[in-house]
Amino acid sequence: MWQIGIADFIEICPRITGERWRLINHDVKDGKVILGDRRMGSQQQLARLLRERIKEQIMADALRRMTEVTDDLAVRLAEAVGMATTLIQQASSERLELSGVEQDDWPPCMRKAVRELEAGINVNHFGRLFLASISATIGLTEETCAGFFVNAPDYNPETTSYQIGHVFSRAYTPAGCAKLKLNACCAVQPGDDRLCDQPWLDHPMKYLRSQQRWRMRDAAAKADEEDSVGQSDASSEGQTS
Ligand code: SF4
Repeated sequence: MWQIGIADFIEICPRITGERWRLINHDVKDGKVILGDRRMGSQQQLARLLRERIKEQIMADALRRMTEVTDDLAVRLAEAVGMATTLIQQASSERLELSGVEQDDWPPCMRKAVRELEAGINVNHFGRLFLASISATIGLTEETCAGFFVNAPDYNPETTSYQIGHVFSRAYTPAGCAKLKLNACCAVQPGDDRLCDQPWLDHPMKYLRSQQRWRMRDAAAKADEEDSVGQSDASSEGQTS
């Protein structure tokens, strides 16, 4: 069980979101905050705090070094900086797109894993790894992902948090359909789902992106329809008057 000085805790935690990082939700003994709660183990919390502290030091170091960049160095670095900026922008626009994922967009294999865990049915290791990695990829929080496992028959909050933290920090790529089928984690048979039946559908992320595109197209078509109804109402009112 790890403990941390109260001053350090108060200094680091405001930058971390979530109720579990508030002092009021921790026991304090002899000026030390006892880390760990039902969902997140003591070691996990310590690791998260250390990560925040390291990030802060890297930022401070980077800001200090920026003051040392001369005009000449800035010109020489321009190309590399431009490339890095483009890559970061691409990654964040992809994340933004994925943060709009709705539950209806989830592929059947993901919904099956969540449903089974909720019902207290054992999901095999492959299925659990898949659920954690796809949750991370689509931008769900570690807490939301941990919540999927609460009813698992062998649920242990510490182990679950540790393993989920591990998957999220390593950014594992979710398994493709072939491996999911091989490990009994696919949720459909031929004819069950029009998308899963498509010959090009070989990865659950393709399912998800396709659903998203359909949803957006539907929303745009509906908006167009409402616009044209509004315009024809206005013109018929004009004719009547
Ligand atoms: S075909 Fe692929 S996307 Fe569809 S349920 Fe099976 S594993 Fe998931």
